[in-house]
This record gives sequence, structure tokens and C-alpha cells, in this order.
Amino acid sequence: MSLNKRAIIIFALTLLWGCDKPPTERPMLEIHGRTMGTFYGVKVVGDFPGGEQALQSQVDGLLKHYNDEISTYDPNSSLSKFNQFNSTQPFPISQDMADIVISSVRVGERTHGVLDVTVGPLVNLWGFGPDKRPIKTPTDAQIAAARVKVGIKRLHVDVSSDHATMRKDQPDMYVDLSTVGEGFGADKVADFLESRGVHNYLVEIAGASRSRGLNAKGEPWRLAIQKPTDEIEEVQAIVQPDGRAISTSGSYRNYYELDGKRYSHIIDPVTGKPITHKLVSATVITPTALEADGLDTALMVMGPEKALAFAKEQHLAVYLISKTDQGFKAEYTDAFKPYLVK
Ligand code: ADP
Ligand code: MG
Repeated sequence: MSLNKRAIIIFALTLLWGCDKPPTERPMLEIHGRTMGTFYGVKVVGDFPGGEQALQSQVDGLLKHYNDEISTYDPNSSLSKFNQFNSTQPFPISQDMADIVISSVRVGERTHGVLDVTVGPLVNLWGFGPDKRPIKTPTDAQIAAARVKVGIKRLHVDVSSDHATMRKDQPDMYVDLSTVGEGFGADKVADFLESRGVHNYLVEIAGASRSRGLNAKGEPWRLAIQKPTDEIEEVQAIVQPDGRAISTSGSYRNYYELDGKRYSHIIDPVTGKPITHKLVSATVITPTALEADGLDTALMVMGPEKALAFAKEQHLAVYLISKTDQGFKAEYTDAFKPYLVK
């Protein structure tokens, strides 16, 4: 995925509260690495079979495996092979690929097509894919030509008991899973830890995270939503996800300027153009990180008013930050309130 990624938006807070209590810290293993063009971190409280080294090599291996599946930056990934497959015939895929595409299409349908993993031709046209940036703003004719290749209804996944295939209605369609990759990866690492008997952990891949149980101080994990500024990391809000996944998408870091205008890397599939409204950050809490990672992007496409209305209607736990003439404005749904610490 994008090397030009948003920076880590959510980061674990080393909480200073409760400092007056006697130190009752439990041992914690902590690993960091790179995956999907961004950074990841894992904290495990208690033991892990084989210790920190085993944890690092197994998580690295797991994430490398998934990156090899879904990266559009690697021409040899399974997804790139599907994108290069210039045919409408069924193409064999792994069960994991089937799962991520089916889940992404489901979020796409839930958001009335604003999350669209077939938006790749438009992403690439606007210079946010593996190709180079455009020297000039794309023309309406170029946008129209790319839009013909976009639409989740034109992508089909067929799963049977022993194998899965994917096919496209047009041979030159292009699937881009960048926006859900981090959430998918966080879910996979969390599942892996659970399978090893770990029940107190925090997994973060860029803006997507999964956590469960308690930190080394015996307190619930808490995460910060960052203020949407270019510069220093300032905390906007603190959240206690209580075992749920959380993901933030922000338009304030990943953009470029062309002819004096800022272009975001999030594309509205309806207009075929980068978003231009005042919503700068969207955070979602859901059971899985893939779902949260897809929904945060969808909310970013919708813009402040529609995103809030959609979140309320769907009873989603959502926290939005918009730019105003005075600075920034935060709004959140009732479903988000129980998770807000500050
Ligand atoms: P990151 O690049 O950190 O993963 P996001 O999760 O916010 O950031 O996803 C942005 C990426 O998603 C873009 O770079 C692009 O590849 C892809 N994308 C852009 N617009 C859409 C959209 N409407 N639906 C699905 N994917 C999109
Ligand atoms: Mg996202």
C-alpha cells in the first residue's frame, strides 16, 4: 500500500494517570515493524511462547504474507496478478482474499457505494496509486473513461468448500484494497495472538487497531485521537475501546498540491474526484478493524453532514473532526459516548 501513507493517527498513550498507585506492572513484550507501506506496533502483556523474538518473527511473517496477497504496490502480489489478468474469466484466489473482498464489498454496499474497492483506476489517475503523480489535473474525459471501470457490482467472488475465485465484468477493472488493508492486518494479528492464548494485547497498524484486556499497569487500553494538524502530535480525545476495533482516517496528511490546490488521496466514486469538503478526520469503533477501516474512509467520502447523519442512522460509534473558520470542530454520535474518556 501507499508509501505516502497517512502518519499514525492513533497512538497508544503511556498513561500517567494512576501514577500515585504502587507500581504493579506486569511484564510486557513490545515489537514494531513496517508493513503495507506503513508502521505497525504490537504490545503483549504477559508471556508469549518463545518470547519477544518469536513474536517479532511470527508477526512479521504473517504481515508479509498478507502484504504479498493484497498489495497493489507489488506487481507480484496475488491482487496485482488479478489486476493484470486481462479477462472476465474466474481467477483463483485464496480464502483470505475472498474474505477481505467480500467484507469490503459488504461495507461498500452498506455505505451506498462510497467505499468502493474498485476505485483503483481513479486513484491511479489522480496519482495516489503505484504510478506517478499527474503533471496536470485529469480532464473530464479521462475521469469519465476511468469511471466506466469502477463499481463494486461488477466484481464477483465465488466461494465453494475447497476453492475461491474472483471475476470482473470488465477485463481492465482494478481492485485497490489499500484502504482496508491495515484493518484487515490488525484483525489477522489479533486472531493470531488469540490463537496463541494471548488475551491482553494491543495491535496497531497505522490508524487501525485492535486491543483486548488490560495493559501492563492492569488498566484498560486507551488510545488517543490526534488533533488534525500537520505538525506536532496533539491529543484531541482519549478513547477506551474495551475490546473493540478502532480506526481513524484523516485527509490532513496524505495529499499533494497541484496548481495551488490540495488534493486528498480519498476519491469520491460518484464525482470521480478527490474529496474537497471540510471533514478532516473520522474515527469509527466496530467489532472488527476491517469494518472500522472501511467505514472511516466511507465517512471521509461523505463529508461532515452526511457522515454524521449516516453514523446516527446506522447507530455507529463515530467521532468526526471538521475544519471551521475558527479552527476545528468535533462531533460524535451517542454510540461513541461510552468509549470517550476525555
Ligand atoms: P491509507 O493510505 O493510510 O490506507 P486510507 O485507509 O484512508 O489511508 O485509504 C486511502 C486509500 O484508499 C487511497 O490511497 C486509495 O488507494 C484508496 N481509496 C481512495 N478512495 C477510495 C474509496 N472511495 N473507496 C475505496 N478506496 C479508496
Ligand atoms: Mg480506512
